[in-house]
Amino acid sequence: MPSFVTHALFAEDSCEKTFGSARPFSNRDLPWLILGAQGPDPLFSGIKRQPAGAEWGYRIHRGGFGRVASALAGKARKLRRESSADAAAMTAYALGFATHAILDRTAHPYVNYFSGWVDPSSSESEIYRFTHPFLERIIDMMMLADRRGLDIGVYDCNSRIPPRDEQLRLLPPLLSSALKTSYNDAATDETLEEKVANALRDDAEFSALISPSHSDGMAKAVEMEQRGELPQRVLGLFYPPEIPPGDFMNEDGSGWIDPRFGGEKRRESFVELYESVLGDAVIAMKSVMEGDPFDCLGDGDLDDGSPKDKGGKFLYSDPFNLSPIIDGMYKAVSQRHQ
Ligand SMILES: [Zn+2]
Repeated sequence: MPSFVTHALFAEDSCEKTFGSARPFSNRDLPWLILGAQGPDPLFSGIKRQPAGAEWGYRIHRGGFGRVASALAGKARKLRRESSADAAAMTAYALGFATHAILDRTAHPYVNYFSGWVDPSSSESEIYRFTHPFLERIIDMMMLADRRGLDIGVYDCNSRIPPRDEQLRLLPPLLSSALKTSYNDAATDETLEEKVANALRDDAEFSALISPSHSDGMAKAVEMEQRGELPQRVLGLFYPPEIPPGDFMNEDGSGWIDPRFGGEKRRESFVELYESVLGDAVIAMKSVMEGDPFDCLGDGDLDDGSPKDKGGKFLYSDPFNLSPIIDGMYKAVSQRHQ
């Protein structure tokens, strides 16, 4: 997942390009587009409340995305036919959701190459714990400044998505029924709706904790990490206090290669990657309104679109030196609380 902001910007830009002023939902429903744009990512947070829902964050990323997107589009269409009061909200959600895979598949090779990853067989690779989401947070800050002229401190992710009670009213039944039509074992899981609801509740807590507007979030998270309630190196999931120096967007085109498949050196900057797939998002959005988004999204994984569980290992990387920046955040927290 490129993280929250970049997905939100991508959905907004795709929507503008697709519909212009003829958007099929009003400003009031815009938060549903932003939440939909996060795709299955909010489910990743579902680790505390039981039965837990995090598994579905991972599974949808590994394969089956197109079927879920198709089910959501079908549900939104049905609500429009019935002139339901929730039709516009669910249409916005399905439109945003469809864009998630497109940005993930395009950005992930770049992010994996430049962030590195933990290889369980090598203790040295521990320095890459959470460097993937951390690079995405930095990219978020740079994209927000670049495309909207905004600072992350004033963006407030949580106020841009629907209120949690509205999410809990609409999403558990919607997502669990989409999962049930998309995965065989989900069809018989009677706790699925509860799992989705629990994940959304966990996500609400976690998003509030890591929000840049939470003045004491990092200190709280470090305490929770020490108590074993949050994973180690959890500060890698936070936005750094300011954009660190470095060519994180590959503006000087120094080059990177596909972490799974190697091959030709690629020179695109992050912004170029982002812009290169806005056209694909337009096609996906049109298919949500009329047609079937499965046709353009398919079921491949969200790392690069490889068939389910067939993508193979990551092999190539040249990571930015991100771990010392995360260390610096730990140091700043401990100094502030001495
Ligand atoms: Zn994702």
